Amino acid sequence: MSKEEGLECSFCGRKKAETNLLIAGLDAHICDRCIEQAHGIVVEEALHSSNNEISKDVMLKKPTTIKAFLDDYVIGQENTKKVMSVAVYNHYKRLLQPKTDDDIEIQKSNIIIVGETGTGKTLVAKTVARMLNVPLAIVDATVLTEAGYVGEDVESILTRLLQAADYNLEKAQNGIVFIDEIDKIARKSDNPSITRDVSGEGVQQALLKLLEGTTVNVPPKGGRKHPDQKFIEVNTENILFIAGGAFDGIEKKISKRLNLQAVGFSASKKEDSLERNNLLRYIIPKDLKDFGLIPEIIGRLPVLTYMNPLDKGALRAILTEPKNAIVKQYEKLFEMDDIELVITEEALDFIVEKAVEYKLGARGLRSLCEAVLTDAMFELPGTDNKELHVDKEYAEAKLNKSTIKKLKAVS
Ligand code: ADP
Repeated sequence: MSKEEGLECSFCGRKKAETNLLIAGLDAHICDRCIEQAHGIVVEEALHSSNNEISKDVMLKKPTTIKAFLDDYVIGQENTKKVMSVAVYNHYKRLLQPKTDDDIEIQKSNIIIVGETGTGKTLVAKTVARMLNVPLAIVDATVLTEAGYVGEDVESILTRLLQAADYNLEKAQNGIVFIDEIDKIARKSDNPSITRDVSGEGVQQALLKLLEGTTVNVPPKGGRKHPDQKFIEVNTENILFIAGGAFDGIEKKISKRLNLQAVGFSASKKEDSLERNNLLRYIIPKDLKDFGLIPEIIGRLPVLTYMNPLDKGALRAILTEPKNAIVKQYEKLFEMDDIELVITEEALDFIVEKAVEYKLGARGLRSLCEAVLTDAMFELPGTDNKELHVDKEYAEAKLNKSTIKKLKAVS
């Protein structure tokens, strides 16, 4: 018998030939099956290692502190930041509520944010999760379908949250879920050709229980690929849900309700956005219902807030002011190569103008900066050049060269 063949797993005793894989350690060997089993134990342990530190830590953060933290990362959006701070504070107060004899049960303060894409809805959710140090799952409502249909079941949301919590059940159960594009699962009942609305109202129905608080059997590795995994019971009672959506066209419903129709809609794009800007602040739950969210869903997302469209001033501030502002990130990248990056005010204004002109919004700022700085990031490291001075002419020249202008055509 060769030395190889004599090897066996030090844990289960299987011979090398009986295993798919045998890994050697210092003085021992382990086979693939024992690795799988050990991994299962690790996950299990993580799930049960409960800790209450999250809640204690959270309790210390008053709404003004939460708002101040948001201010460091999110430009403008004062209303949402304030409303969120209070909702998050109340949410965690609810969690820590001592069991008393009075019958006052505090309702969950799940939140719904209405606002154009790229105005910072996800950023707000991310920032809150970062401050509270709780896991965050970001899910897209458009991929969800009713159980049994092609797409993801709503339980997949909790799989994501478990993964974000490194399978620590306690942490996941105190986490935050951001459901993006909630407007895309609005009821499509005006369309008579749709007989079964599996990705609209059906999903809303499926979401109800999750939002309210229930125990769900969750496949820890997600969906159908791993049919024989052990389910984990997740209680959603203390999970904070934040939903976001652009709700395109909702301002028409608001204006109708406000009886502003007589003023008429302007054909000009600029006035359109002003109109939107002015009207979203009047949004009430009924407008969401008129848009196609079912009343039960609206009832379970009791905190309603809106985002303002970003104007030039806001875009300019986003470039340099947040704690991890885009420009600060590039400065740091260059600094790591001992290169000082200096971007002039005019160059920054120019980048903002282009973002507005190409209708790229805040998301486009990064692509624009990337287009301006890529050549330098490629060429400068390793040379004696220790400073990069970016003025308007430099930025203009780089942008003219890049393909980003093509975006203009598709927007
Ligand atoms: P939404 O979820 O509304 O579509 P995001 O939160 O994903 O928008 O925003 C996209 C990016 O734009 C963010 O990563 C962020 O860098 C930037 N951004 C958008 N709005 C703001 C804002 N109000 N303050 C700071 N950065 C913002």
